[in-house]
Amino acid sequence: MQTARLCSRQTCQREATVTLHYSYADSTALIDALSEFREPHAYDLCDHHAARLTAPQGWRVVYKVPVQDTTES
Ligand SMILES: [Zn+2]
Repeated sequence: MQTARLCSRQTCQREATVTLHYSYADSTALIDALSEFREPHAYDLCDHHAARLTAPQGWRVVYKVPVQDTTES
């Protein structure tokens, strides 16, 4: 049985729709479909936070799946 996974951002109660991975080797923040299992270096995010993700300096954000921020602010 699958329980809903929530966004990993504090104070956010939205359902997670994607998983964020940090690839340190090539300084990439990778947004991909929600992973089946929780991984230590991955963070589940909702649409809202995935769409607003900003990469650290020198990093880039790569979306492997389309993310639509359907929420208002
Ligand atoms: Zn969120």
